[in-house]
Amino acid sequence: MARTKTIKKITKKTIMCVKCGMITDSYEKQFPKTNSSLYAGYEGYLPICKTCLNKLYSEYLDIYQDHFMVLRRICQLFDIYYNESLAKSLMNSDMRTIPTRYISKLNLNPHIGKTYHDTILEEEKAKKVQEITEQSLRQQENREDAEINTEEIDETVEKQLADARKIFGSITNENDALFLKNEYDDWKFRTGAKSKAEEEIIKNICYNSLSLKKARESGSSTKAIEETLLN
Ligand SMILES: [Zn+2]
Repeated sequence: MARTKTIKKITKKTIMCVKCGMITDSYEKQFPKTNSSLYAGYEGYLPICKTCLNKLYSEYLDIYQDHFMVLRRICQLFDIYYNESLAKSLMNSDMRTIPTRYISKLNLNPHIGKTYHDTILEEEKAKKVQEITEQSLRQQENREDAEINTEEIDETVEKQLADARKIFGSITNENDALFLKNEYDDWKFRTGAKSKAEEEIIKNICYNSLSLKKARESGSSTKAIEETLLN
């Protein structure tokens, strides 16, 4: 009867692959199951048949020449979770079934329910972790450089003090010792003094310069010292 026929037509499912146009009445055998809510109206199955999805792999391999890029591209297209170590585990599998095998692995723990959105979040998180690690490494390097600089300065000061004590004997005040050494070097450089007698004169000048400096700092009279220095 005509009426029964019409009802049959309506209730029977018609599922079509978006790529090859193949028509069937059940997703289960010929369409890959996905985690994305985008395909809720397709009972959670992709609108592309397994055969077409698998063929996409070799089509994209011609373009990208890279297993990982191909799988990533397929995942992007269909909102499938992309995971590099999962992709790696299929590197040596039969090329004709890699995408469907990949999807089967996704339907197992711990990947159930994940989509490409999770890939984006995970990769952003990994990038942030890497940035923070690099930043703290840079800070550590800067700190080490600063420490080396301080060490270098300390070494220079130590050497100046040792030289000062060699020339002027033991001087307890380090600032005085450094002042004397500085004055001594300056006078020697300007006068080109080489003999022992000349060096002794310079030493006396340095002592007087130090006295003059201290007198000025304490506000005492500097007249007598200035006269001695001039002599
Ligand atoms: Zn198809």
